[in-house]
Amino acid sequence: MEEACGVFGCISRSINVADTIAVGLTGLQHRGQESAGIVMSSGTDDSYVEHKGMGLVEHVFKDNLLKLQGHIGLGHTRYSTVGVSSIINCQPFVVQSSLGKIAVAHNGELVEAKKLRKEVLDMGTGLTTNSDSEVITQILCHPPKVLNDGHEWLDRIKEFMSRSLISYSLVIMHDNKLYAARDPFGNRPLCIGKIKQRNVLKGEGDEKKEEVIGWVVSSETCPFKSVGAELERFVKPGEIVEISLTGYKILHTAQRPENKRPAFCIFEYVYFSRPDSFLEGQLVHFVRERCGETLAVEHPVVGIDDEKDDWVVSTVPESATPAAIGYAKKLKVQYAEVLCKNRYVGRSFIQPTLNLRQRTVSMKYGVLEDHVKNKKIVLVDDSIVRGTTITPIVQLLRKSGALEVHIRVASPPIKYPCYMGINIPTTNELIANKCSADELAKHIGADSVKYISLKGLEDSVRPEKRQDYDGGYCTACLSNVYPVEIEDLV
Ligand code: SF4
Repeated sequence: MEEACGVFGCISRSINVADTIAVGLTGLQHRGQESAGIVMSSGTDDSYVEHKGMGLVEHVFKDNLLKLQGHIGLGHTRYSTVGVSSIINCQPFVVQSSLGKIAVAHNGELVEAKKLRKEVLDMGTGLTTNSDSEVITQILCHPPKVLNDGHEWLDRIKEFMSRSLISYSLVIMHDNKLYAARDPFGNRPLCIGKIKQRNVLKGEGDEKKEEVIGWVVSSETCPFKSVGAELERFVKPGEIVEISLTGYKILHTAQRPENKRPAFCIFEYVYFSRPDSFLEGQLVHFVRERCGETLAVEHPVVGIDDEKDDWVVSTVPESATPAAIGYAKKLKVQYAEVLCKNRYVGRSFIQPTLNLRQRTVSMKYGVLEDHVKNKKIVLVDDSIVRGTTITPIVQLLRKSGALEVHIRVASPPIKYPCYMGINIPTTNELIANKCSADELAKHIGADSVKYISLKGLEDSVRPEKRQDYDGGYCTACLSNVYPVEIEDLV
């Protein structure tokens, strides 16, 4: 499973905004590694300047940051789910509208993309890419049918949101303002941060005063420390927020259809977001630990209580590590690393054949033999998609002397496609559609395989102490219950 994108915007007259955006995007690199782009402006159409390229943020902007000048800008790092992986689909998109230039960065995937695409073309607007983000940009260029608020940009964004319910977290730049908008289901995260400076006022008692010198908007909070920002607030489902040099304003909250709950992607907790990010006010690392604890309660390994010294609980590095720690803590069994990840081997899923994929996996992981030999291993993974990664890992552990290998999975079986921005293999390729957990254990050579239950996962991710919590999660790839009717749309 691969994430769809990361977005990052910044406005300030006191810091180098292009540098800040590049650092922000680097912090969001885990959300997309195919391409990156930054668009900057000084608030006028003729000041727009951009650079985009294929590859990692560091590579794309190595020699190009100096030409990106301005006090306002936004950036994007992409993994393609709609539209091919090519420079033409790199974001942010920039177009000239009747109100001046706009730049748009999008995280998510429009469920209604096909329908909206046709509507845009039927209105006589040409499209140059097959990206749904270009469709959003073009819809925003059309004057709204009704002017409600005397704020035409707000009306344009509202109108787009009324036509498309899911899935988007957007950053839009126009003139001297950034707009942050999150779909009414809140499917992808989005948050606002502020950059403060401490001034020492000379004179009476050398008083120290904190001053806000910039604002950022980001898919996740994890880059905030690197850019000197602190979390101001999460953008709530349906909100349109205007951010300027003087601060931010909530302009509007778009409503979901009646009786519909929010549908925040539960896999942001399981896998996509960085463990040091906060989502819904809670640190992702701790949520993953809670999932591991729940997994331990639901599926302890038979005999683990009797001979604790013979057992090791471990992780498939790295996103499963907090869940493995939680599992070990709950059962009071030692946690130790058994696999060592070679970071320089490419992602296994892009290899064209099964044989090559499996070989890549065995190149990707080394074994810490002293933690494995003559031990019974409980290996915690965050998810099993095709089953091609876990099979060679079990073989590696067996070859290295493991007496038993039990797999515990911190997400329920993935059985259904995602239409909201996550690239999931076809239904036929998903291993959970081919065999039960027990059959899978046999197939991959493990002593047992157990998945956390859907209820267990939902209970583990739900914030515990939030009074204002209005949560609800998308679990469609696990439950086949989609936030909106899919049939006529895709
Ligand atoms: S279908 Fe799965 S991956 Fe897609 S948004 Fe829903 S929970 Fe997330």
